[in-house]
Amino acid sequence: MKTLLLGITLFVSTLFPTCARCAPAKPAVEVVVLGSGGPRPFGRGGSSFIVLLDGTPRILVDAGPGAFLRIGELDLDLDNVDTVLLTHLHIDHSGDLAAFFNARALSADGPIVYRIFGPDGSGQFPKTSRFVDLLVGNAGAFAYQKTFGADESFKVRDLAISLDSPRTEIVDENGLVVEEIATHHGDCPAVAYRISYKGAVLVFSGDMDASALPNLVQLAKNADLLVFNCAVLDPPGSPSQLYDLHTPPKKIGEAARDSGVKSLLLSHLAPDVEGQEDAVRKSIRASYPGPVAFANDKLRVRVEK
Ligand SMILES: [Zn+2]
Repeated sequence: MKTLLLGITLFVSTLFPTCARCAPAKPAVEVVVLGSGGPRPFGRGGSSFIVLLDGTPRILVDAGPGAFLRIGELDLDLDNVDTVLLTHLHIDHSGDLAAFFNARALSADGPIVYRIFGPDGSGQFPKTSRFVDLLVGNAGAFAYQKTFGADESFKVRDLAISLDSPRTEIVDENGLVVEEIATHHGDCPAVAYRISYKGAVLVFSGDMDASALPNLVQLAKNADLLVFNCAVLDPPGSPSQLYDLHTPPKKIGEAARDSGVKSLLLSHLAPDVEGQEDAVRKSIRASYPGPVAFANDKLRVRVEK
């Protein structure tokens, strides 16, 4: 598994402290990047992450195309991954959800009860409960999946999508707290998530344009790691219509500064962003002094409090 990237020495030293003489304790929170890309096929998986608590995979955040493949490559144990957080329902974030259910069920020892969170519906986008129903409901495209390998049930909660909706706690059990808040991603309903466990705090922006930054800044306040989807260059470097969907680096840096996050991981990278890492880093640096790293598929990051 890849755990280091060139050129992120500061980030690595912060997130991967080493101790030559002592066996490393299992970190309370880690994140594994299953897919660090977006909708364009250029070698990165679509957006997807697995969050580990005390070394055990527990939470799937988005399920972009490629998640299934990376789970197998990393030989990840899915036995305890029963919570799914969907930031939005674009294909590059949800195309492998049914494949994840399939993979999880085929290694299960007993019934599985999923709890799935995602945005309410609007326009062409179904609410998340309807989306799951369309996949694996009784009349869904993959209705067979509910009993394929394991008996599965799906508890789905649709989250408020209006930007003035309050930040909401959706999980609070055994020290794990998950909160969410609405963001904005063009016409596609979207939410961001904050995961807190044993004092470590990890936030996922999902895809969002800059109009939702006040909500994101509030949710990410003092987080240890903010995973921000970085799909465009600063204007005018990317097609203008993309700025109605995504936040440019300069504003990502300002948001990281304003929220006081300790470190930043950029994911959902586009081909033009991938080739401009120095410019992106410089733009973020103008506002944000903390460690900044770029994601790759199969990168594993400790979230240090
Ligand atoms: Zn996307």
